[in-house]
Amino acid sequence: MINDVPYVVDCGYGVSRQLISVDVALNRVRYIFITHHHSDHNLELGPLFYNAWITGLPVRVDAYGPPGLTQMSRDFFNYLKFDIDTRIPDEGRTDPRTLFTAHEFDKPGVVLTNDDVKVTACLVRHPPIKQAYAYRFDAKDRSVVISGDTAYAPELAEFAKGADVLIHEVMYLPAIEALLQRLPNAKRLREHLIAAHTLPEDVGKIAADAGVKTLVLSHFVPGDDPSITDEQWSAGARKYFKGQIIVGKDLMEI
Ligand SMILES: [Zn+2]
Ligand SMILES: [Zn+2]
Repeated sequence: MINDVPYVVDCGYGVSRQLISVDVALNRVRYIFITHHHSDHNLELGPLFYNAWITGLPVRVDAYGPPGLTQMSRDFFNYLKFDIDTRIPDEGRTDPRTLFTAHEFDKPGVVLTNDDVKVTACLVRHPPIKQAYAYRFDAKDRSVVISGDTAYAPELAEFAKGADVLIHEVMYLPAIEALLQRLPNAKRLREHLIAAHTLPEDVGKIAADAGVKTLVLSHFVPGDDPSITDEQWSAGARKYFKGQIIVGKDLMEI
């Protein structure tokens, strides 16, 4: 939240519901940022906007993200064509397609500047996806960096230099090995995970090199193993980073 306006970074499944859970009415959503086009980051982009439209969207939504964003929103509106064409005449609503603007970018740099914040994108490493970004929000009172999904990317330390908060994804290797034992596509999945995500030690190095005050661990890989303790998630990072470490939880306020 910046100056009472929500800036939504990524739209995984459940984002509409979670915003309501923290008393952010959906029709307050104004800006959406997508880090990359994996479904755990974009599955509910269309539905979030659409839910906001249905609940009385007063202004337009600007969405920022890598190439594919425009086509995705067109495809989404096509998917809902019957409902759109029904509700506009029947309920006197404004055409939602005129209220949503997709801003695609394919290079790092500043993606948005307004009176409250400057938002910058940094290319990160998330193979096989080439267009994957981290975002930095420089507001008047605080700077926050969100890594998106990335393998160890030392350039993120430079990008996050002097930020107050770094929210970084993390992967816990011992639990990956256990997880893979249960899956038929284990070999391919293991290769993907190792190449695409960051170990706690490396997260700690990034946070230390960047000199941030607070490191928030988020986007846990694997995300479905409750036996991993907060201590296990953070111990590796603690070896390198001496600032505050927070193990992120749903709906947490930092
Ligand atoms: Zn991803
Ligand atoms: Zn992800």
